[in-house]
This record gives sequence, C-alpha cells and structure tokens, in this order.
Amino acid sequence: MNKCCDCQEQIDVENGDWGWSPVKEDYICLTCRESDESSLSTVIIVPLNGKTIKYYIGDHTRMTEFGDDMYGSDLTIDRVWVSSDAYRGHYNTTVSGWTEVMVGWTTGAWGDATSNRKQSFNEWADAICTGEIIAPVPIAIVADPTSNVFSMGISVLTTEPDKFKEWADSDFEDLSDSLS
Ligand SMILES: [Zn+2]
Repeated sequence: MNKCCDCQEQIDVENGDWGWSPVKEDYICLTCRESDESSLSTVIIVPLNGKTIKYYIGDHTRMTEFGDDMYGSDLTIDRVWVSSDAYRGHYNTTVSGWTEVMVGWTTGAWGDATSNRKQSFNEWADAICTGEIIAPVPIAIVADPTSNVFSMGISVLTTEPDKFKEWADSDFEDLSDSLS
C-alpha cells in the first residue's frame, strides 16, 4: 500500500486508480488530484523564436495544455498560496530566473467600468500570445486564481526586465493602470 502525498489516504497502486504528483514525486489520490485541477494557475510562455506554450500549474499539477508532462522543459515553476486573511488570498506563481515586470489582477468582460478598464491589458496579452505583437524579449503571462472567483491575479514576467521596460515604454503605464 502507498499513501496519497496530500491527504495521506491509502492508495492501492496495484488494483485501484491513482495519480502522480510531479511536484512531490509521489502518489496522489484521485480526489486530491481533482481538487488540485479545479484551481490551476496558467503560465503562457511566449519565447523569442518559437511556439507559445501554455502550462497548467497546481500544487501538484505540472502539465502543458495538451496534458503532457513538463519533464522535457527547462523551466522551474513554483506556486505558493498568499493569504490576506483566513478566508481570502491568491496564488502566486513564479518562474525561476524570470523577473516580474507587471503585476495586478484582471477580470472577464462584464461590461462595467472596471472590466472595461481591464480590457486594454487583456487585449495586449491576447496580442502577445497570438503573435500579433512581437516583443523583443521572452514573455510569460501568469494567471493565478484568487479567493474571488471573478478575478484572476496576473503577472507578466521576462528574463530581460530592462529591455522589456525600454520596449514597452509608452504602453507600460497604461497597461499597469489597467491591471491595478
Ligand atoms: Zn489524497
């Protein structure tokens, strides 16, 4: 018998169904895996030359949007829960060696003044991801779940923060405002 690395429940790996936590490198039960997969962060990596890749990051989950594992990637991604009080907080996902150049939150297009203000960041992020805007530096756009189901914590990371700020120059303030 093995134990789930999260809830410590016994797992019969010979006869039952089980999952694997690449973070803990240990067995995880299906209930814990499901719960992890219900609050995933996304990290969209837009490299200088090459294909944009979307990853799903949980406390245990590390996979591409196609369900592939990340063992072939050279990215080290960490995620922690940052609590603001007993009930509220947000996840914070970081990529080792990458620097945060913008941080804030966004929401869907609900048509009110706040979400309208958010659209300039959302549109910029979309354009970066689709290649409509091409940045001179690698960019990662991170979306983290928060305790408010309507809002996502957002951060923009790059390996070359100075070059990013120089390039983003006039848009930078507008985008940062949009995220705040
Ligand atoms: Zn479990």
